[in-house]
Amino acid sequence: MSTEVPAEDYDIVVFENKFPSLQQDLPEVIKKNYKFFKYGKAQGICEVVLFTSDHDGVMSEKPLSRYIKLVKVWGDRYQELGAKDFIDYVFIFENKGEEVGVTLHHPHGQIYAYPFIPPIIGQELDSSKEYLEKEGKCLFCKTLKEETEDGRRIIISNDSFTALVPFSASYTYEVHIYANKHLSSFNDFSQKEEIDLAAILKTILMKFDNLFGFIFPYIMSIHPTRSRKSSFN
Ligand SMILES: [Zn+2]
Ligand SMILES: [Zn+2]
Repeated sequence: MSTEVPAEDYDIVVFENKFPSLQQDLPEVIKKNYKFFKYGKAQGICEVVLFTSDHDGVMSEKPLSRYIKLVKVWGDRYQELGAKDFIDYVFIFENKGEEVGVTLHHPHGQIYAYPFIPPIIGQELDSSKEYLEKEGKCLFCKTLKEETEDGRRIIISNDSFTALVPFSASYTYEVHIYANKHLSSFNDFSQKEEIDLAAILKTILMKFDNLFGFIFPYIMSIHPTRSRKSSFN
């Protein structure tokens, strides 16, 4: 990892965000007499991942090998950042397209390593814990089972993953990718699963770009389990 983008020619590069919302080394929080407002250290790590050295590159036109490398990089960052004692959640995401307010056109994504669990992820994890306690099953595996049996919202599946439009989508063109077997995070991926996730991502991107004949803008995020070992995963 470096703090500057090195030469013109690189494969995939990860560097720390130059304008980070969260930082590793911070001064102590100045104590103020707030009784109502909560505050604390914005400690964490923000990284940028450049998917290719090709500034004007279109990801849906890139070969599968690029996606496989990207999945491996995500897995590597998930593991390394998640191992730090002040990190509780590694959030991997991509905002793509001017339409969603992205100013850097180079194909890239971001990683926020948080000192807490982001609220929506927290809700998902709480719900899945509650479901496990009540029904003795994994909520995500059960959801995929129900969707597969129904079949109407399935877009594509391969040996390890299934892409679908969720029963109660919050966004138009929302797509969820589920692991076919119970996988909590990148830490549990086999090589085959890395390849299969890469393949399904590429297919979904191609479908998005072909839908209206332009590069489809989107926000994407990966929701693995929390980094610290918890009582469930
Ligand atoms: Zn560039
Ligand atoms: Zn599961």
